[in-house]
Amino acid sequence: MIVNNGRLKIAIQKSGRLTDASIDLLRKCGLDFEFQRHSLYSPCRNFKIDLLSLRDDDIPEYVQDGVADLGIVGENVTKERQAKVKHLTRLGYGQCKLIIGIPERSKITSIRHLQDKRIATTYPVSLKQFLRSKSVKAEIVELSGAVELAPTLDVADAICDIVSTGTTMRVNGLKPLTTILESQAALIVNGSSYADKEKRNLIDRLMIRISGCLQARGKRYLMMNAPMKSIERLKSILPSMKSPTIVPLAEKDMVALHTVVAEDDFWDLMENLKMNGASDIVVVPIETIIN
Ligand code: ATP
Ligand code: ZN
Repeated sequence: MIVNNGRLKIAIQKSGRLTDASIDLLRKCGLDFEFQRHSLYSPCRNFKIDLLSLRDDDIPEYVQDGVADLGIVGENVTKERQAKVKHLTRLGYGQCKLIIGIPERSKITSIRHLQDKRIATTYPVSLKQFLRSKSVKAEIVELSGAVELAPTLDVADAICDIVSTGTTMRVNGLKPLTTILESQAALIVNGSSYADKEKRNLIDRLMIRISGCLQARGKRYLMMNAPMKSIERLKSILPSMKSPTIVPLAEKDMVALHTVVAEDDFWDLMENLKMNGASDIVVVPIETIIN
């Protein structure tokens, strides 16, 4: 039976590639979970939400069935499990691709060459859908793991598997033929929970926090001093969310400029700023940005 105590339940992967980033995101949203060793359930001290730690494959169904209201799971898993859940937002980590790979020396060079071939996978549903969309009939060899070994063992002519950098594939003498799906971690929600007034209110509040964290990711807050006469030149160099904040300093004809910059641009930008009159440049991390 599902107990409705007015609190949300959010399912995340218990232990795996998405676990640390998911806990980190929720923590950055200000949620303080009381973790207990080996427990699948962690209550939150300062928000009406509790954490369920589960195997990632089970998360879409649990959210669909209302065991959890929310879930963080790879889009690849939600698609494969065909769960009826609502997609709220992508989360910007856990990037990977579901691809079809073939042996380096394979004669297969196009998707239609997969006709009547054997393809090993742990993603039979997604693969079947893809093949049907391409009008290709192939034998799907369903495995529970170590798919990349299937061609060497002559169990299959091709594989369909998740890759991120592709190193594992290359090590096993395989190369990509085509990409079926691009995936990353996403936040999903149960439709009834989303329609429930009280829960929706909590979900909306959580979404504001999550969006704030996503916006702040990769951004830095930049402060510098400059002579008043350099303002226009510096403004033309500075990217900013709206326009930079300019504050007068006690020292005559000097100002402080504050703005938000992308981490990637920062070093190039700093050199340019210095050359154009900025000094005392300070860069600080940003926790969240609420627009
Ligand atoms: P569980 O024990 O929870 O079933 P798992 O072994 O199925 O874990 P992981 O390998 O931890 O799952 O991967 C979890 C998710 O991370 C994947 O479903 C996918 O969305 C994402 N991911 C990112 N990069 C990769 C990768 N190189 N290989 C596999 N999954 C990846
Ligand atoms: Zn899994």
